[in-house]
Amino acid sequence: MSGNSDSNEEQAYKQATTAIRSGHQRSHEHEHSEALFLTSSYVFDNADMAARYFNNELKGNVYSRYSNPTVRSFEERLAAMEGAEQAVATASGMAATLSVVMALLQSGDHIVCSQDVFGSTRVMLNNYVVKFGVEVSYVRLTDLDAWQQAIKPNTKMLFCETPSNPMAEVADIEALAKLAKASSAQLVVDNCFCTPVLQQPLALGADIVVHSATKYLDGQGRCLGGAVVGNHETMEKIVGFLRAAGPTMSPFNAWVFLKGLETLRIRMQAHCVNAAELATWLDAHPKVSKVYYAGLPDHPGHALAKKQQSGFGGVVSFCVEGGREQAWKVIDNTRMLSLTANLGDTKTTIVHPATTTHGRLSEVERQQAGIGENLIRIAVGLEDIADIKNDLELGLSLI
Ligand SMILES: *Cc1c(COP(=O)(O)O)cnc(C)c1O
Repeated sequence: MSGNSDSNEEQAYKQATTAIRSGHQRSHEHEHSEALFLTSSYVFDNADMAARYFNNELKGNVYSRYSNPTVRSFEERLAAMEGAEQAVATASGMAATLSVVMALLQSGDHIVCSQDVFGSTRVMLNNYVVKFGVEVSYVRLTDLDAWQQAIKPNTKMLFCETPSNPMAEVADIEALAKLAKASSAQLVVDNCFCTPVLQQPLALGADIVVHSATKYLDGQGRCLGGAVVGNHETMEKIVGFLRAAGPTMSPFNAWVFLKGLETLRIRMQAHCVNAAELATWLDAHPKVSKVYYAGLPDHPGHALAKKQQSGFGGVVSFCVEGGREQAWKVIDNTRMLSLTANLGDTKTTIVHPATTTHGRLSEVERQQAGIGENLIRIAVGLEDIADIKNDLELGLSLI
């Protein structure tokens, strides 16, 4: 697309360019920025035209639960950045995962899922999806033998989140994709922590990517949203579920996320720089017993992360000397860091996973995931790293 063109001809732009130029459909007002279409429905010239749009003879907007131009711009831009045929936007990250499960699985099917996926993913599978006769088994993200052994004749989906939260374990996407192909299951990767800037699971053989746009894609903690990315055939099934069931993205949120995508690359690079510096500082800190960040050379996932990611991301977890009391003391004595479960924000956030994000897991599940009472997770923002360190030192110096 030329800067002056109203059309969006496909060209082989690099990702930094597609993040800014893809999916932009100019309206007849020839505005330079992406237009925000806050409308629930669309008007037709006459009854014959309405009938032809409704029966799909003519392709176009009918109702915003089905399609909306602003949402479509976001979908096209994200698809281009993931190197995918199609993306479908959803109301939240959880709505993305829900629509994948609802559209692609049926009673009697089996999912193999990494055990340390996002807390709500696990709650949704365990409390709701199983009610519809879909079986779920959990395996350690990094244990390829366990994945292989868990696969059964009715396994239709392998689901993983890499790097994991909050332990930053790294799955071998290429190896999991091979396992999925060999058993005619589909590999779904939650790419929320890396975004397409740092990791492109489809290029490594995954079938489907899910996103929580709420995190880095927005980047400033303003809106909930999500997306599913993959080939046309699969996305048509997802679209079918979303149109019927309704967890679609609001046009306003899509407009915010479109802005987010334009700066995603430079923000992710800056998050990586800040996180690497914080991880190194924490690693040398006398009150810190362990740091979980794949960018550290002694992290077990370091070599793999280096191979399949183009950066190590913005999330750093660490254990303090002591237990819950000491961890809470560190958190409660920070002044600038935001105590909140959100991540992927310009503002650095701090959280105690065992009593918040992972509090709904059973004690056994938490132990399996390695989430101890002395663990703190930081989603490193874009403030000056010296201020982030100083703020943490306020608490660390007291324990
Ligand atoms: C936040 C998050 C989700 C869920 O996204 P929502 O937008 O909150 O529904 C899913 N996966 C990961 C890895 C997340 O961090």
